[in-house]
Order: sequence, then structure tokens, then C-alpha cells
Amino acid sequence: PGGHVAPKKLTLEDIFIAVKTTGRFHKARLALLLETWISKTKAHVSVRSLSLSLSLSLSLSGYNMVVTDCQSDHSQQALSCKMSAEYDGFMASDKRWFCHVDDDNYVNPDALLSLLSAFPQDGDIYVGKPSLDKPITAHELLEGNREVHFWFATGGAGFCLSRRLAEKMAPWASGLRFEQTSAAIRLPDDCTVGFIVEKRLGVAMVHCPLFHSHLENLLLISHSSIPQQVTLSYGMFENKMNSIEVKGSFSKEEDPSRWVHQPQKTHHVSVTVCVCVCV
Ligand code: UDP
Ligand code: MN
Repeated sequence: PGGHVAPKKLTLEDIFIAVKTTGRFHKARLALLLETWISKTKAHVSVRSLSLSLSLSLSLSGYNMVVTDCQSDHSQQALSCKMSAEYDGFMASDKRWFCHVDDDNYVNPDALLSLLSAFPQDGDIYVGKPSLDKPITAHELLEGNREVHFWFATGGAGFCLSRRLAEKMAPWASGLRFEQTSAAIRLPDDCTVGFIVEKRLGVAMVHCPLFHSHLENLLLISHSSIPQQVTLSYGMFENKMNSIEVKGSFSKEEDPSRWVHQPQKTHHVSVTVCVCVCV
């Protein structure tokens, strides 16, 4: 009798979305995101000045930006360094969910919100899509090369972690520890998240078909199901341009992403852009 307080309904404001990008993709990729799913809510972000003044224009317009001093290459260490910055950024925030996406992902904020709302909000949740059809095998360097098997969510398709689970990950993920964990299994950032969640914490990943990277055939996504998909992507796959099939008057040459000319709904998403400034 009395005393029962219904948990606050999840809103987009409660979700921390970290976008990983790099200096040389500002024009080609980040600008496109700012024109599409990352809505321009406050001050207008001039996409033409998205180079040196990016930091200034983003912070002025209500976007958070973390400029990491990670190396600007595609090495395991450089990528783990960025994931670590994304994780630390979330931990320092008051958001309830952490989501990571790449800068060639399109996020459907409504679909993301319905997916996350369906989970127990105080649960240990790690949700994404595996890129392999079986668990990955790793060898733990400091444990006599012991073999371990676990599922991980492809970073290129995006994934999310509940706050409660993210907090439990801290002994292996906070500060310098994320890169150390990644080095100990000699695998990239997304595999490292799977390793910490499944092997260190014993929590099973939730496999969800609504996340998509360009390493899967995007033509297979039916037009009518696009509004339900949480993430989409575009890019090269087996030396061919891979993108979703949408009907419209713009060719794949004019709009390889298939996003630019789609009617856009405005969303008030708060996005943290993790960018590495090329030195
Ligand atoms: N990326 C990065 N630094 C680099 C290269 C790539 O941070 O030197 C980021 C890039 O912005 C993207 C992700 O890593 O968010 C994956 O890069 P990309 O799509 O080019 O490669 P993929 O692995 O998908 O082929
Ligand atoms: Mn990519």
C-alpha cells in the first residue's frame, strides 16, 4: 500500500550516444550525420566549417565533443583508446544508457528508444548484433594463453549497455584499463566489450537483429521495415558499394549513403562525438 513509485519512463534524453569518428571523415561522414539523424536543434552547425572550428561549432550548438589524443590510425590500440574515451564520457554523465555507433551508421532514434524501453531499466543489458555466427575465441595473455569463447556485438553496427552493467565493467574498462584489457586478449575494442561483459561479468549478450553494419548485405532489409531498424549503415562490402534499398529519385552515385535525400524527422538526441584529431 502506497510507497510504490513507478520508474521514470525512458526518453531519448536518457541515452548517451557516442559517435566514433576521425579527423579526415569530418566532411565526408560527420557532416552527413549532422544533416540527418543528429538533428540541429540549437544553434546551426555550419557544415562548411567542420574542420578546425568543428570543436567550437559543436560545443556551441549543444553537442558534446571529446577530442581524444588517441593515435589516428585503425590499429587495435587506437580503436580501443577511443572506445575507452566513449565509456569514460558516459560514466561521467548522468545518462541511463550508453550506445556506441560508428560515423557511417544511421541511427533511428525512435527505434532505439523503443528497443531500450523494452528492457528492465535496472538490469544488466548488453545489446547488439554479432558479426560472427559463433562465439569468438581469444587467448588470455596473462592467464597462460587460456582459451576463452564469448559473443560480442559488432562495433560497426552499434551496440548499447545499461548503466548498471557499465558500472560493473569499471574494473576492466575505466581509464587505462580498457586498453589493458584489449591488449590482454589482443582483440579490438568491440571484442573487448564482449569479453568484459560475458567472461568477466558472466552476463550474456542480447542478440538483436535490428542493428546493421555494412559488413552484411543491406539490400536484404525490406523497405517497409526500415523504420523499425535501430541502426543502418553504408559502405564497401566485398569490393562493392553496399547500402539499403530505398526508392527515390536519387541514384546511388548521387547519394551512396541513401540518407541525404530522405525526409528527416527532427529529434532531440544528445550525441557525444568522440573524435581523434590527426596529428
Ligand atoms: N576510425 C577512426 N580512426 C581511423 C579510422 C577509422 O576512428 O583511423 C573510425 C571511423 O571514423 C569509424 C570506425 O572507426 O567510426 C570504422 O571505420 P571505417 O568505417 O572506415 O572502417 P570499417 O572497419 O567499417 O571498414
Ligand atoms: Mn565502416
